[in-house]
Amino acid sequence: MNASTQRSQFLDNVLKIIRRGCELGGFPEEFYELISRPERVVIVKIPVKMDSGKLKVFEGYRVQHNSALGPYKGGIRFHPEVTLEDDIALATIMTLKNSLAGIPYGGAKGAVRVNPKELSIRELEALCRGYARALRDVLGEYIDIPAPDVGTTAQTMAWMVDEYSKLVGRNSPAVFTAKPPELWGNPVREYATGFGCAVVSRELANELLGGLEGKKVAIQGFGNTGQWHAYFVSKMGAKVVAISDTSGTVYVPEGIDIELAMKVKNTTGKVINYPKGEKIPDPQAPLYVDADILGPDAMENQITLDNYHKIKAKIIVEGANGPTTPEAEAKLSERGVIIAPDFLANAGGVIMSYLEWVENLQWYIWDEDETRAKLERIMKNNFLRTWKKFEELRSANKSMTMRDAALVLSLERIYRAMKLRGWL
Ligand code: NAP
Repeated sequence: MNASTQRSQFLDNVLKIIRRGCELGGFPEEFYELISRPERVVIVKIPVKMDSGKLKVFEGYRVQHNSALGPYKGGIRFHPEVTLEDDIALATIMTLKNSLAGIPYGGAKGAVRVNPKELSIRELEALCRGYARALRDVLGEYIDIPAPDVGTTAQTMAWMVDEYSKLVGRNSPAVFTAKPPELWGNPVREYATGFGCAVVSRELANELLGGLEGKKVAIQGFGNTGQWHAYFVSKMGAKVVAISDTSGTVYVPEGIDIELAMKVKNTTGKVINYPKGEKIPDPQAPLYVDADILGPDAMENQITLDNYHKIKAKIIVEGANGPTTPEAEAKLSERGVIIAPDFLANAGGVIMSYLEWVENLQWYIWDEDETRAKLERIMKNNFLRTWKKFEELRSANKSMTMRDAALVLSLERIYRAMKLRGWL
């Protein structure tokens, strides 16, 4: 089946969330019509001459979901199972995230159906350059600004920004963000998403657990988001007891040495090569261990009606996009579990991308400490605003969630922008 025709449970879930937000905020149906559909979807074919000499044609997408608040902004995912509908779901989450973060962007997301681990470096470079070439007309520093996501990295951004710059005949750093520090990037971007998750974990622990010090944290997924989430919560005094990747789970009730685990993962490719603790084959095992805080930092649709009852944590900080289905969230919420939603918790990456974009537009450089302090302040303020709204909603109706509060705040900003622009 062609990817573009597959139904996506993920998109259905995101649309349910948008519908609920519109009902809670009392927004009119015409607003739902605008916010539930992308403004533009571009499907491209990207031919790549493989090392074998054969030509392979990849399918790529760019979904430009909403531009009420500014240029489109969102990552590019390279994954063998990504579908166009998933990409629309991810672009919709970006619209919500950028609005809640208070940054001047609409939402977008791109994807290529490919397993990047199966490509040689040369093939990967050709694919990245092909993606930038194919989408050149719809990208731009004031139009649409991509960044990495699952399966893409600072290096892929470097190839894309180079290709784009050649095509337009001038250096154009601000068209792609999360670039390497040597090429107009900022060193904070590498860890910004996980750092932001850690800030949200700390703030939630302050509200609900009397602080983060000594609290047990379990992290599913040990890529960019999961590694830095684990690293910074451990630096803030928490004990990370479980981590996982597709190879399985490492469980150490006394706490994992995260710097060592990162070294092991990044040199051998597998967390289960960590030298100590119990090894559990199931990559989902961190969801079920005894922990105070859970970071589902891998992929969407991980916490569902089939497994929510096995979760012991009182707090969930969604590092991944869409890890909890709406049905599972309702059940967990009944049990008193507090979930910091993806578009609040993992906004550190895009907020840092915004700071990098501002630097690039001005050809100006902030140092690492100054940048991290700016990022932390924005994350913390966004958390506190959302928490205040959550308490307000919850005092009127016990079933309200943090996602509801974040949704109302996010949609309100987009709604006001659309009204002012005369779109509604
Ligand atoms: P990544 O670097 O590719 O890491 C993903 C990690 O998840 C890898 O360690 C992978 O294992 C692991 N994984 C995949 N399926 C798993 C499963 N079923 N159980 C346990 N682990 C699994 O990706 P990422 O950038 O961290 O992104 C992760 C999530 O965060 C995505 O939902 C993404 O949209 C979201 N996010 C990322 C950013 C960012 O700046 N990176 C920003 C916002 C949101 P292997 O290493 O074995 O493949």
